[in-house]
Amino acid sequence: MDLEKFANKRYGQNFLKSDYYKQKIIQTMPKNSLRVVEIGPGLGDLTKELIKEREVIAYEVDKRLCEHLSIEFQDSIIQGNLVIKCGDVLEHWGSNSLIDEDYNLIANLPYYISTNIILKALKDERCKSILVMVQKEVALKFSAKSKAREFSALSVLASSVGDAKICFDVDPEAFVPVPKVTSSVLLIEKKRSQDNKEFEEFLKVAFRQPRKKLSKNLSLKFNKDKIDNIYQKLELNPNLRPHEASTSIYYELFETLK
Ligand code: SAM
Repeated sequence: MDLEKFANKRYGQNFLKSDYYKQKIIQTMPKNSLRVVEIGPGLGDLTKELIKEREVIAYEVDKRLCEHLSIEFQDSIIQGNLVIKCGDVLEHWGSNSLIDEDYNLIANLPYYISTNIILKALKDERCKSILVMVQKEVALKFSAKSKAREFSALSVLASSVGDAKICFDVDPEAFVPVPKVTSSVLLIEKKRSQDNKEFEEFLKVAFRQPRKKLSKNLSLKFNKDKIDNIYQKLELNPNLRPHEASTSIYYELFETLK
């Protein structure tokens, strides 16, 4: 099959063809016996390795691939090691948990919705860990620590639920077709879930202009005197930039200003 022609850009199809990186992902999987949810199994290269380790539920939007997978993995499907759900994973998710049991999310995510999927998984209390291949920039935004240039609203949300780190980078040549960007494998080990829409909205305001002063961003939505008071109480530098405040400071600011 000519994968270059077969791949549908609309669905972010870059197939992982490197055995080396597939094995690295398997070695990085959290050590528990929970079911694995794979989003976008594609041609099933990673799926084949995952079902050697765990029971898997895989969500694939492309009907051509769903057909291919149901033939390729007929035996595993009959044995119950693998369930293929055809359709857009975001529609399956709705506002609840993706499945009715605890699970690990492991996937080479389509770039165009990777941030949305990770945000959904952070909120999903049944999701216990997230091991995903994403564009390096996105991985940096989720895993950055306070004071790093990349520290963002996404970093605050990820650190609110547990530990986020980049495990390794993946060369573009590991995929067919070759993407224009470098990818990274991001691991978020969740200790809890975060599903506070108000806090997310608050962070959007705080990081609206990431290089401006945090107090200036906050003043777009909140009372200036209230901001000055809480800055004094927390002994914050008036020139503090959004990336320089810690996750706990964001929670204190939110609780006072909301
Ligand atoms: N896992 C395969 C691999 O590593 O070779 C394919 C990864 S490819 C980057 C992303 C996959 O996600 C594609 O198979 C694509 O069709 C699928 N996909 C894209 N959008 C999706 C959605 N909304 N719901 C479920 N799957 C989706």
